[in-house]
Amino acid sequence: MNAFRAHYFDGLSSRLHEVEVRRLDGGRIRIVGVDVDREEDAAALRLTPRLARTLRTIELADGARVMASHDERLDQWFPNHDRLQRLVDRLERHAQAVAASIMLCLVMAVVTFVWGVPWLSDHIAAKVPKEIEASLGDQVLGQLDRYLGFAASKLDGARQAELGARFDRLVAGLPDATGYRVVFRDAEGVGPNALAVPGGIVVVTDQLVDLLGDDREFDAVVAHEIGHQQHQHALRQTLRSSFVLVIAALFTGDVSSASTVVVAVPTFLLQSHYSRGFEQEADRYAFDTLAAHRISPAWFASAMRRLDAHYDSDGDDDAGVAYLSSHPRSADRIAAAEAAGAAFITAHPELVRETPGYDPCVAEGICPDEDDCDDDACIDSDEADEYEDSEDAVDSGS
Ligand SMILES: [Zn+2]
Repeated sequence: MNAFRAHYFDGLSSRLHEVEVRRLDGGRIRIVGVDVDREEDAAALRLTPRLARTLRTIELADGARVMASHDERLDQWFPNHDRLQRLVDRLERHAQAVAASIMLCLVMAVVTFVWGVPWLSDHIAAKVPKEIEASLGDQVLGQLDRYLGFAASKLDGARQAELGARFDRLVAGLPDATGYRVVFRDAEGVGPNALAVPGGIVVVTDQLVDLLGDDREFDAVVAHEIGHQQHQHALRQTLRSSFVLVIAALFTGDVSSASTVVVAVPTFLLQSHYSRGFEQEADRYAFDTLAAHRISPAWFASAMRRLDAHYDSDGDDDAGVAYLSSHPRSADRIAAAEAAGAAFITAHPELVRETPGYDPCVAEGICPDEDDCDDDACIDSDEADEYEDSEDAVDSGS
């Protein structure tokens, strides 16, 4: 039969007309219904591509439409001259092609998640203006104070100034050194910890200062946090985690919703771990910075051991707090710091006494006080003076 039933819309009202579509000679089409009777040249009409069992639409030049369920005759009457559409149409009807497409989509999703999101996050982080990052940092610090019980430090002013000066020495010479500052906070609930807040602020808890036994351990810990700052790890990792939010902000142009990221940062800083790659990057930065300041990177291992001992004895390991020596990798990181310390001493044999736990009495037989040493290892008081002198020389950074 040379006709099929369809629904006709005139393009002006939403009224549906029952019609019959007939093919006439000379490639012409007639659409006939109660209030409809029009004749068209088939070549001037456009048939929408076939998609599963959805209705097909024939579009007329004046905006009118004919909708029909799929009918083999449709494709004969209105041959599609678009090669791409014909190909798509064929693929859509092949189960194998559909299965392959689904697989391809899954692979694309994985690739996007594993490589695309980090890549894009890193590029966005690099483009965030310094002022925005700094104001983000201030807000994050405010949140730490407000919601996580960070209170004003109880360290006395002189001690804060002393440690602050050590921090300043480590950042001196960095291109954006002025943006860096260390702040101390009393954080009983969090315990010994140090955090790199976006924008250059390094937060050190009083509990960490109390735990560390040597100021060079403080140097090691803050050098690691400065490493996180230098590589924008807090911002990059937060962007990765909050990617959907940021994308939404970009698409909607609603910058205020991007500030929701601020809420995500403190939570992230305390509850998640940086990726292994980020931690290694910050560790390497710390080793290089310490060595450049004539401090053995082995002090980093020494600080880590104290943190490990503290958190292990606390039974606090799973409390959800990401302290800077995050398990289970701290053994690897301690080993790396020890290796960097050994390389440092090879390069600077004159600084061997900078090694944590180095005892000249045992290692060199040079003892400041004769009563402390074994008979063979003892030296006379002249040599002891010599040792004192050389130690002064090392202290003054010669
Ligand atoms: Zn870290």
